[in-house]
Amino acid sequence: MERTLSIIKPDGVSRGLIGEVIKRFEESGIKITAMKMTYLSKKKAEGFYAVHRGKPFFESLTDFIASGPITVMVLEGEDVIQHNRDLMGATNYKEAKPGTIRADFATDIEKNVVHGSDAPETAATEIAYFFSSLEIVG
Ligand code: UDP
Ligand code: MG
Repeated sequence: MERTLSIIKPDGVSRGLIGEVIKRFEESGIKITAMKMTYLSKKKAEGFYAVHRGKPFFESLTDFIASGPITVMVLEGEDVIQHNRDLMGATNYKEAKPGTIRADFATDIEKNVVHGSDAPETAATEIAYFFSSLEIVG
């Protein structure tokens, strides 16, 4: 059993897409084992996306992710890191496969509705960024 971190970004929350995203996770057999609404300060956003520091989109991305409430979840399942990435679709929604969250709902390469960890090490670090082990059920 594997774990990953999912974030519904400020665009997804403000557009009323929380239920839609969660429905897709649950219908595909993914288990949600932790969930909360929260905000990232600009500083916390910079820490979360530290791997992208120095890239041309870093300033705008960290402003965006700190611009409003987000929904943060721990997802659990077999191969759930890749499974979640498959449900999300490509970073650039124009390249995302039809039926993926980003193909269906993203409006911009930045405002692409969801975040998902990309590897076991980043999943562990990203989960710990938001949740203590006591907050994760199951
Ligand atoms: N992003 C952007 N412009 C780019 C690449 C990425 O604004 O050219 C944003 C986008 O919101 C993306 C996030 O930065 O989801 C993190 O980028 P990454 O390459 O890690 O994509 P992801 O793992 O989210 O698919
Ligand atoms: Mg990434």
